[in-house]
Amino acid sequence: MLFAHDTEMALQAAAALVNTAADGDELLPDPASLAAFLDGWGFTGSRVGNEGELAAVRELRTVLAGAWGADEDTVVAVVNRLMREGHALPQLVRHDDWGYHVHATEPSASVADRMGVEAAMAIADVVRADALDRLRRCAADRCDDALVDLTRNASRRFCDASCANRSHVAAYRARRATA
Ligand SMILES: [Zn+2]
Ligand SMILES: [Zn+2]
Repeated sequence: MLFAHDTEMALQAAAALVNTAADGDELLPDPASLAAFLDGWGFTGSRVGNEGELAAVRELRTVLAGAWGADEDTVVAVVNRLMREGHALPQLVRHDDWGYHVHATEPSASVADRMGVEAAMAIADVVRADALDRLRRCAADRCDDALVDLTRNASRRFCDASCANRSHVAAYRARRATA
């Protein structure tokens, strides 16, 4: 394991959030889709479920997207902004089936603040480990998805299997064409 479990989960959730706006599609079109996203990633805490909450999460998504594949100073600026604006105050907590892990916001904080601070805390770990190359963009043509490379040898290049297959087929055709 490269990072603590909660850090790895938070990084993957942050990448998934960034990718809800990938390729020009809007995968969070309404509050119900946001609720499904939050449930899917196991986010706890209060929710309002209205358009304002959704708008704040979309705004956060844009900010987070700027941290993926960016240089260190840019990433640090994003992390510090999210921690400051989300009033981060780290505490070790235990709930449900989870062992002790860090929450840096109150359960009553807004959804966007909780998501933003959680992502910022996780990215801070990556910066401290000098591992920002682990947060990169998919290498496939016509795909710019955010990915989190948690492989031991930092070998992950594609966001998913379909991008990997597409790229391998293209590389194979290119080799045959020049042979
Ligand atoms: Zn928790
Ligand atoms: Zn991809």
